[in-house]
Amino acid sequence: MADATPDMKDIVALAKRRGFVFPASEIYGGINGFWDFGPLGTALKNRVRDAWWRDMVTCPPIGPDGAPLSIVGLDSAIIQNPKVWEASGHVGGFSDPMRKCPGCGHFVRADHLQSILATDSEWVQELYEILMWKTGFNEVSHDHLRHWAATKGRKSAPNLAIVRNIDSVLSHIPEGRYPEDEWAPGHFKFFQLLATEQPNAPSVTGLQDPCPRCGAPLGGPVETSLMFASHTGVEQNDASKVYLRPETAQGIFINFKNVLDSTRVRVPFGIAQVGKAFRNEVTPRNFIFRGREFEQMEMEWFCHPDDAALWREFWLAERRRWWEALGIRPENLQMREHEKDELSHYAKEGLGTQDVEYRFPFTAPGFGELEGVAHRCAFDLTQHQEHSGTKMEYRDPVTNETYMPHVIEPAAGLTRGVLAVLCDAYTPDPSRPSGVYLNFAPHMAPVTAAVLPLTAKPAHVEPATKLYMALRPRFAAELDVKQNIGKRYARQDEIGTPYCFTVDNDTLSDQTVTVRHRNTMAQERVALDKVPAFLAEKVG
Ligand code: ATP
Repeated sequence: MADATPDMKDIVALAKRRGFVFPASEIYGGINGFWDFGPLGTALKNRVRDAWWRDMVTCPPIGPDGAPLSIVGLDSAIIQNPKVWEASGHVGGFSDPMRKCPGCGHFVRADHLQSILATDSEWVQELYEILMWKTGFNEVSHDHLRHWAATKGRKSAPNLAIVRNIDSVLSHIPEGRYPEDEWAPGHFKFFQLLATEQPNAPSVTGLQDPCPRCGAPLGGPVETSLMFASHTGVEQNDASKVYLRPETAQGIFINFKNVLDSTRVRVPFGIAQVGKAFRNEVTPRNFIFRGREFEQMEMEWFCHPDDAALWREFWLAERRRWWEALGIRPENLQMREHEKDELSHYAKEGLGTQDVEYRFPFTAPGFGELEGVAHRCAFDLTQHQEHSGTKMEYRDPVTNETYMPHVIEPAAGLTRGVLAVLCDAYTPDPSRPSGVYLNFAPHMAPVTAAVLPLTAKPAHVEPATKLYMALRPRFAAELDVKQNIGKRYARQDEIGTPYCFTVDNDTLSDQTVTVRHRNTMAQERVALDKVPAFLAEKVG
């Protein structure tokens, strides 16, 4: 990301224009929460995925004792026996309590809509001040609210919805000007939207919760589920009901015994999986940040309960370092410890969860979750042991101790990771024809090298084709013959190609090409036969 936060709509437009991400089913009007990855988006996603797989499975980190960790890969089915999701707590528990407006049909998350419990508390005063004066009378600015949530709000009102879950709350608050009477002092219609204590806590104000869209009193809580359901077989009834997995993790837990019995791994070890997950999110938003179909990269690290604290610290440091190694600027990353009441059911008894967060353009100056590193205790293995009747305990071959391993889980979003890499690379630059370039780290760029004959004449095209054919087996190379050279450079800037090699008249006489560096636009000559070594040094 450039110093000034780029505008999300510019990033989305570039992603579409250059073939990174398209709205799914676009020719039919799209479908909310689903996206298609175009040629370059697929290449970028594969880069992130491959880097993760390499650093987890092929070449895992060195552990605290100086020996390489042992992590194996898995690719489990998206649809499993529905009992898996009963045991994991997803069927039944995996839902957001919602309230429906009988007037306009709008759904609001109940935990974002608790009546305020006091009228004179400090944060109410602060928010009031921000809204009424700092942002201009009657003007609501999401930027001010975001700033407050990320700074003062974190200290004075950590349990407030606007602090904990700013994007969800802001989705209920349109930006802009409001009629004066809605903002009269003592009118808490608006503040009710911002506050949250426990879901379903009784209102002590006596005010009815209004619909944030039309103002009508909201109805009671309704049951919703984040699980996508389907059926197997010909007959569609309760007995044939199945679910699309909402996370890749459970496929790992149910194969714990299979992996132990079929490989040479011993605790501590990890099982890693990359794949699609599906959640019927109530408000998919912010481009590919929150979709209904997305990809995860999850690794379950099985260890002795006594070692959980050590491994948690290890993975926290490792995962932050990993995101930085993708080229994301450290100042745009932060770690955030979950508040006690944010913890998932499986993490309540444990050492807690920390998120790796990225400063997305739509969260700035705040941050949004990229990855959660959770201590899942022995929750999942115990649940599957109880529900399936299969013993999940581990017997240490050296000490003969039998125990249920604990799990430290670094659970990252691949789709969200791609968005972070894309946002971080987006660099407006009015001095160049494209007006913008993508500053990908060379090893992450979808196209590493573009080979450009200066003209479409055979004298240029033939050596260029030869160079392209030599690079193709080892590097993501592209041969681009059409249009004038300036336009071709502009296109390569916009797709973030770090190196362009131009074949011109000098090439014919001295067997060299021009290398153009994306970020500086500086040019130098390199011998044709040295190009592979030049690239190998840059991308490793
Ligand atoms: P959030 O709080 O944003 O809903 P979560 O805490 O429910 O996320 P996890 O269940 O921990 O997410 O999943 C691990 C990772 O999967 C998240 O860190 C995120 O990167 C990714 N992820 C989760 N939900 C979505 C989604 N709807 N769209 C894209 N990525 C997602």
